[in-house]
Amino acid sequence: MSEQPELNASGTGDERRDSKHKKAMKKQKANIDATVAAADIERGVAVLLTGNGKGKSSSAFGMVMRALGYGYKVGVVQFIKGEILSGEEIYLREHYLQEQNPNMVFYQMGTGFTWDTQDRSADIAAAQKTWEVSKALLADESVYLVVLDELTYMLAYDYLDEAEVLEALSNRPEHQSLVVTGRGGGAKLQAIMDTVSEVKDIKHAFNDGIKARKGVDY
Ligand code: ATP
Ligand code: MG
Repeated sequence: MSEQPELNASGTGDERRDSKHKKAMKKQKANIDATVAAADIERGVAVLLTGNGKGKSSSAFGMVMRALGYGYKVGVVQFIKGEILSGEEIYLREHYLQEQNPNMVFYQMGTGFTWDTQDRSADIAAAQKTWEVSKALLADESVYLVVLDELTYMLAYDYLDEAEVLEALSNRPEHQSLVVTGRGGGAKLQAIMDTVSEVKDIKHAFNDGIKARKGVDY
């Protein structure tokens, strides 16, 4: 005769696992609730997305979508314009052109710095012009979220004055949030940001010879 699973006070293996899970979840919920209750400051946050892995600009555009979803005004400035048009640019131009939708400002450093330019003074002029657009957004109370995509390179190459940039980032309106992307960025930039995430390059398809993918990489 085969043995029946014993049904005693502690229950079957499954029941024990269920009750252990329930207890653990209850404890976790209590911890999360306490943490949520402790975070009661209402202000915009500054987020730096850095590191050598893929996922910085695309994450920033995820936040753009979130903010637009709530009807907030968003300003996006791209300090490096890729050779290829990106999907996010196509989408934003189609759906959020400034004339159609006052909630979106989109500016790209059109000329100047790309990885192939070697004209430093033209690059600096383009970076300065792009910075002026950024500064205006960073001073505009009506803009809920500002994205400064690939700004870190402008600091690394000394195309922009670090002290001036850090001051404008720090002095933005209280309820405005900010996302800066790009590798590096330096300790001073990290120090003034509220959230700093480093995307680690564990591996990238490109290094296995796989072509950059429309709608995924650009
Ligand atoms: P994404 O825009 O996809 O979020 P990113 O902003 O983190 O990428 P960038 O350094 O700005 O990364 O480079 C943008 C492009 O380079 C993307 O097409 C991305 O797939 C590619 N890329 C990013 N990281 C790597 C890497 N470690 N090796 C090779 N290609 C990369
Ligand atoms: Mg990027």
